[in-house]
Amino acid sequence: RSKSTSFIGLGRMGYEMAHNLFSKQYANAQDAHFIVCDAVPERAQAFSASFLTRFPGAKIAIARTPEEATLASQNIITMLPSSREVKTVYNDGIVPTLKKLSSTSHNTLCIDSTTLNVDVACQVARDVVDTNSQMIDAPVSGGVTGAKAGTLSILVGGTEPAFNLASPILANMGQRIIHCGPSGAGLGAKICNNLILGVQQIVVGEAMLLGEKLGLDPAVLASVVSSSTGSCWSVSVNNPVPKSLPEKSPPCERGYEGGFATSLMLKDMGLATDIAATVGSPLPLGEAAESLYARVIQEEPDLSQKDFSSIYRYLSKASSE
Ligand code: NAD
Repeated sequence: RSKSTSFIGLGRMGYEMAHNLFSKQYANAQDAHFIVCDAVPERAQAFSASFLTRFPGAKIAIARTPEEATLASQNIITMLPSSREVKTVYNDGIVPTLKKLSSTSHNTLCIDSTTLNVDVACQVARDVVDTNSQMIDAPVSGGVTGAKAGTLSILVGGTEPAFNLASPILANMGQRIIHCGPSGAGLGAKICNNLILGVQQIVVGEAMLLGEKLGLDPAVLASVVSSSTGSCWSVSVNNPVPKSLPEKSPPCERGYEGGFATSLMLKDMGLATDIAATVGSPLPLGEAAESLYARVIQEEPDLSQKDFSSIYRYLSKASSE
């Protein structure tokens, strides 16, 4: 188990993060063992096949369940959609297995990169720590592009020793690894960031549409805003209008496929409004944005799994009806 790392959840982000992590670990130690696991077994199979094509000698195995992955590994990284899946994977799989292992001398490190409810994450971390293992929350920012390039910002919550243990692993997947505070603090920072992003992507959609109606070329408007005070990621990287970023290829160029699903952004706006209500912090724009994402999914269910920049398509369609 000493040199084995499991990655559970090989979706849009996890696939790219696992690829960077395993490639770099393999370059350092060719006897390292890698384990992949996903609720959709074809994803684990596709990952393993593609990894072996690049590194034919690598020791990579597919775990059918999180229990199987836990039994075989020293480090476990999870990248799941939301609180529900994290509860299932940890409460039913990882934690009971760690309990069984706790009589043997082991110290497993669990890194969860999912964006989820802070209270759920802290409870799961306490359960892991009770088995003599360690756990950090390590949500990420930078999107699929950042995951692919290994340039993610990784926001960590946990103890100093757990952070120090995790840092070299995280450095294989991200560029900035920031210790935000104790358990749950990484998620707090991530939720604040995505609150800004969720509101921002809507207003960028509004402004790009308004610009078009005023007769502006979207590429000219994107370039103006990118070098002006309205500059932000939603304009200069994730612009929702095709051909607005000639040098880049945001999801709008692929029919809004890939990227960050609208349903996941709705989840994150819900995380923000929930936690803000708990601590009594006002979110007038956050609440409005949450209702708009909910309305988009209700009225156009096919946008649920498309990138959240498709809010522009929704606004554009609504304005022409
Ligand atoms: P995704 O839906 O593409 O991937 C999730 C993966 O988890 C899927 O492959 C799914 O089959 C797997 N999974 C679900 N339940 C499972 C279980 N019980 N056991 C094993 N595997 C299971 O989601 P994503 O876009 O990769 O996002 C993952 C997380 O990262 C989310 O919390 C999201 O909010 C966050 N995030 C996403 C982005 C982005 O741009 N996509 C950016 C930053 C953070």
